[in-house]
Amino acid sequence: DLHFYRSTPTELGIRKGLVVGHEPSGIVRKTGSGATMFQIGDRVTVNHTLGCGKCMYCFQGETVLCAENRGIAIAGYGGDTNLLAIPETTCIPLIDNLSFIDGTFVACTGATAYNAAKRVISNDENNIAIFGLGPVGLSCILILQKMGAYVVGIDPNSKRREFAASLGVTNVSDFDTIINLKKQSPNLSGFNGSIETSGSFFAQSVAIDILAPKGRAVYLGLSKGKPSISPEQFIHKQITIIGSKV
Ligand SMILES: [Zn+2]
Ligand SMILES: [Zn+2]
Repeated sequence: DLHFYRSTPTELGIRKGLVVGHEPSGIVRKTGSGATMFQIGDRVTVNHTLGCGKCMYCFQGETVLCAENRGIAIAGYGGDTNLLAIPETTCIPLIDNLSFIDGTFVACTGATAYNAAKRVISNDENNIAIFGLGPVGLSCILILQKMGAYVVGIDPNSKRREFAASLGVTNVSDFDTIINLKKQSPNLSGFNGSIETSGSFFAQSVAIDILAPKGRAVYLGLSKGKPSISPEQFIHKQITIIGSKV
C-alpha cells in the first residue's frame, strides 16, 4: 500500500529487520502438524489481517475488527521473501485462472473495494458515485457494474480519467462537472450512494452533498487532518454515513 510505501519506519513504528509485504500469494510448500485446510502444492493468496482467533469478530471472519488485529508484516509474517510461515486461517484458495499477481490484488485492494460495494448497494435504485479513480476506486466501479449499479467515476486528474476510460469505464467525470450539474438542477434527485476512496477533504464533503435524500455515503479513503464534514450535511437529507475497511 502507498501509505506504507510513503511512510518512514519511525512513522510506522516498525522494528529494524522486519520483513515487509502484506499482500503475498504463492504455493504451499510445507504444512504444519495441525494444519488441515491446505495441501502441499495448493495455490493461495493471503488475508493480511490477523486477529486473536477467539473473539466474536474473529469467529465471523472479520479479523480486521478484532481489538488485537495486526497486519501480517507487523506480526512477523511479511511477504517480501521467497518462503514464509503463515497461519493457514489467513490463506485463501487461489483458483487456477487467477495469477499470483491477481491474487495479490484481490486479497487487499479487491477485498477493500468489494466490502465497500456491498455496503453501498441497496435493493432500490443504485446510482453510485465513486470518488477517486485509483486502484480501489476502479475496482469499486467494476464490482458495482457487475452488481447491476449505474456508476460514475469522479477524479480531478485527467490522466486517471483517461486510464479509467481505457479500461471500459464509460461514465467518468471531473469534480466541476458533477458540482455544476447539481447547482444547475438543485432538484436533481442525485445519487443514491457514494464511495469516497481518495482521502481528499473536498471529496469527503462532496460525497455527501451529491446524494439524494436517504442516500448512503461510504468512506474508505484514509486521511490525516481536520474534520471535513459537518452533521448539517447529512441530518436534513437523512443520509447514512458508513465506514468501510478491507
Ligand atoms: Zn479477535
Ligand atoms: Zn494492501
